[in-house]
Amino acid sequence: NDKSLIVSFGEMLIDFVPTTSGVSLAEAPGFLKAPGGAPANVAIAVARLGGKSAFVGKLGDDEFGHMLAGILKENNVIASGINFDTGARTALAFVTLRADGEREFMFYRNPSADMLLRPEELNLELIRSAKVFHYGSISLIVEPCRSAHLEAMKVAKEAGALLSYDPNLRLPLWPSAEEAREQILKIWDEADVIKVSDVELEFLTGSNKIDDETALTLWRPNFKLLLVTLGENGCKYYTKTFHGTVEAFHVKTIDTTGAGDAFIGALLCKIVDDQSVLEDEQKLREILRFANACGAITTTKKGAIPALPTPAEVHKLLNA
Ligand code: ADP
Repeated sequence: NDKSLIVSFGEMLIDFVPTTSGVSLAEAPGFLKAPGGAPANVAIAVARLGGKSAFVGKLGDDEFGHMLAGILKENNVIASGINFDTGARTALAFVTLRADGEREFMFYRNPSADMLLRPEELNLELIRSAKVFHYGSISLIVEPCRSAHLEAMKVAKEAGALLSYDPNLRLPLWPSAEEAREQILKIWDEADVIKVSDVELEFLTGSNKIDDETALTLWRPNFKLLLVTLGENGCKYYTKTFHGTVEAFHVKTIDTTGAGDAFIGALLCKIVDDQSVLEDEQKLREILRFANACGAITTTKKGAIPALPTPAEVHKLLNA
């Protein structure tokens, strides 16, 4: 399609999602095998909404890795940025669904293939053609993928891409909370658009007050948009000149996995070809209503990628 390219960088893995919520992993009667990994979810969210999308990352040269590459392709995500590692296995995540719909993770990363992406393996031509470059923070945790992450950001930025960052804090994966905070804030200023959840806001600021004053401590002069997602309470937005809240949609939530990824993917689709909308509060609010709808729909089904919305589903919710 003739739309501008959105490149998502980072990990892709398989979520083993229990068929029952509110029980421990060991007590779950069964699992669904759901592909996920925040940046890959974003790549598919973009493509499913009709955007031009590519994923950059590394998979194991194993059954799961090839299954994941196939899923990206089936979902119209450009796969020329994917590398396969012949030594390490594809990452796996074992999910617990809490009774309140939130999820907890246990990871197989020992190391997994995604952690072994090297800077010299990057498809620089693909990255240079991105109009938007989106990344998370799991790939910042260890070398060599940290260097690959930083190199990809640099190349995208030099080529003029808008940089979009979702920290995706998975605290148990980091050596310590201090290191997570330090590494995340080290690349904080590079982004143009940043999305944090309320939990990440609390973690990064050390404040337990989720208010404008706290959020604004994370604001940087070069930012175009800072977003704080609040689950069933929608989202807050901050730009240089205005800020506000857009309410969430009321839906029957069963699993929130992927909601934030659907949300940011939807936003990126709407701004990739016209960044001037970031300066128009009415237009931005409309876009965030769309993004909230995409997040909400994702919570109504199990898993991440299988739950990401189609344009028809979003249209139905927006006009309900
Ligand atoms: P993350 O997945 O990053 O923690 P959130 O859970 O806040 O992000 O979800 C992102 C967006 O998805 C929210 O801003 C909201 O619009 C929508 N959303 C998430 N959970 C719900 C819910 N329970 N009901 C309605 N909308 C939701």
